[in-house]
Amino acid sequence: MEITGWGNYPVIQADGFSFETTDQLNHFLKKTDTCIAYGMGRSYGDSALNHRVVFSRRLDKILDFDSKQGVVTCESGVTLADIINTYLPGGWFLTVTPGTKFITAGGAVASDVHGKNHHKAGCFCESVICFDIMLPDGSIVACNRENNPDLFRATCGGMGLTGIILTVTLKLQPVKSSNIRETIMRCQNLDVVFDLFERYESTTYSVAWIDCQAKGENIGRSVLMVGEHADSGNLAPPAVKPSISIPFNFPGFCLNRYSISVFNHLYFRKNPGYESGRIVSLDTFFYPLDAIDMWNRIYGKNGFTQYQLVLPKAASLKGLRAILEKIASAGMGSFLAVLKLFGRENDNYLSFPMEGYTLALDFKMQPGLFPFLDILDAIVLDHGGRLYLTKDVRMKRDVFINGYPRWKEFERLRTQEHMKDKFNSLQSIRLEI
Ligand SMILES: Cc1cc2nc3c(=O)[nH]c(=O)nc-3n(C[C@H](O)[C@H](O)[C@H](O)COP(=O)(O)OP(=O)(O)OC[C@H]3O[C@@H](n4cnc5c(N)ncnc54)[C@H](O)[C@@H]3O)c2cc1C
Repeated sequence: MEITGWGNYPVIQADGFSFETTDQLNHFLKKTDTCIAYGMGRSYGDSALNHRVVFSRRLDKILDFDSKQGVVTCESGVTLADIINTYLPGGWFLTVTPGTKFITAGGAVASDVHGKNHHKAGCFCESVICFDIMLPDGSIVACNRENNPDLFRATCGGMGLTGIILTVTLKLQPVKSSNIRETIMRCQNLDVVFDLFERYESTTYSVAWIDCQAKGENIGRSVLMVGEHADSGNLAPPAVKPSISIPFNFPGFCLNRYSISVFNHLYFRKNPGYESGRIVSLDTFFYPLDAIDMWNRIYGKNGFTQYQLVLPKAASLKGLRAILEKIASAGMGSFLAVLKLFGRENDNYLSFPMEGYTLALDFKMQPGLFPFLDILDAIVLDHGGRLYLTKDVRMKRDVFINGYPRWKEFERLRTQEHMKDKFNSLQSIRLEI
């Protein structure tokens, strides 16, 4: 069968294995040399790709819920959408959610995903109490911060390279409404948006859309959105199905520097200079892209990649300016560029966030893209930053090693527990992890 990630690049041939019981998985692992877990395939690059993949989607049962504490235990193929649909009507929502709800609990742990509240709540795994994981020899290990802390730190953010996560127990947060009270601010450049991010640091959620083609004094022109859960309103679960669908890959010429520039200009103008107290649904605030089914086809059949970097706070302004200047002068980048503020780094070996600013932007696959991204990598490393593994499809080993100082502890555990012999992705092979 053909498989790919969300970026539709690369597309490879693979043998897929689905299972419903741990015995089936145990049997499969015993006769397989190397494989990698695959959840909903929402990671953009090659972290869930190999010539043998283990699909987790049939592990789709919610196993337990403590309605006093808001603690849910589910199998790892349960999606965040399943959790929201089941528990939002009772007043519970995810403590941390990424920009799509169509990911599995296992994928959320393996990437240690972050949301718009990292500066307040940290990563997804900060809300994870424990999980069960199957190791290379087929044994199942229960893992939390006290029991098997090494395995816990390596698996959270470990990109599926320590084993197959079977169940996840996580803490939800109480909410009174399925709405968000949002404030929107137009920002003329990077100085202004940084200033506002920091002024609104006590607000739970913040995110800025950034026009990566603005130049000169307008570099970093953006629209900042901050929000809190509304105090009252209904608790209805959001719509189940996306409202629009992209039926086929767009022809490559649709997305070029001119169409992107027009889109960015219109988007900036469409938003109010300042509007406070707007009530929007959770879907609108957290998952705007989920409303368009298969939006990744907009980039055409050659696919795209998302480049997400983080820089330490002190270096963020200078480093991001340098990066945005390079992108604007090359006429690269797309309309999906997002800026967020991160809080403190956690102690998982390969988790992405560090205290500072993160920028994520999409690039259509085209000749010259990878050498161009190598230039951006050098700026990121010069400023003490790193790239996000779950978005990556082309990073080189030295960029990984320099960005993730705890890679040696990860490597030691992988060698010691024979994980290197069993769990590998195209990404881990490329990065020699
Ligand atoms: C529109 C969109 C918005 C996004 N926004 C954000 C965001 O705001 N913040 C953010 O952090 N991420 C974001 N992402 C990325 C996404 O949240 C992660 O890539 C997530 O890991 C995808 O989960 P998945 O179930 O699709 O896993 P896959 O993409 O299938 O796999 C991702 C990784 O998890 C591993 N894995 C999956 N299941 C298991 C398992 N059972 N056991 C062990 N390893 C497993 C895979 O091997 C792979 O390394 C976004 C993605 C999209 C498409």
